[in-house]
Amino acid sequence: MSGFDRTAHCRRIAALGGRATLLAHGKAHMAAIGRNGFRVALALGWGPTLAAKLQASYTAKFGRQIVLGPCSLAKARVRADARRIYGGMLCDVPGCLEGGQVHHVHGVEVGNGEHNIMVLCGAHHVELHRAARRSRRLARRGGA
Ligand SMILES: [Zn+2]
Ligand SMILES: [Zn+2]
Repeated sequence: MSGFDRTAHCRRIAALGGRATLLAHGKAHMAAIGRNGFRVALALGWGPTLAAKLQASYTAKFGRQIVLGPCSLAKARVRADARRIYGGMLCDVPGCLEGGQVHHVHGVEVGNGEHNIMVLCGAHHVELHRAARRSRRLARRGGA
């Protein structure tokens, strides 16, 4: 036996937190949180993610079908339009000559106006989202 099992460690911590909340607020409260979270997640278009993460308990509720909330269908339409309009352009990063994917600067909700679009190759696209996640994390922590 060697090595630190990070997944098991995190599961244990999460389970403890869950149990504490359960003791403090009761079963109905926990179920309400779960339902609420699920509904919100579906509306935001995380159906496929939920299905992948929850697997058995997801299929128990929804069967094999992936539920796409109204938002996610609308978003899929905007993304498809964006690919039609901007597809085939090169990456916006100076000097990069790779073919681009469409990135929505202020979110897909804002639409396909040119001010909201950046064309980025796969590598630069991933990099940008990674940087965005990092700065969101810092902001949550109260950093500048
Ligand atoms: Zn993007
Ligand atoms: Zn690039």
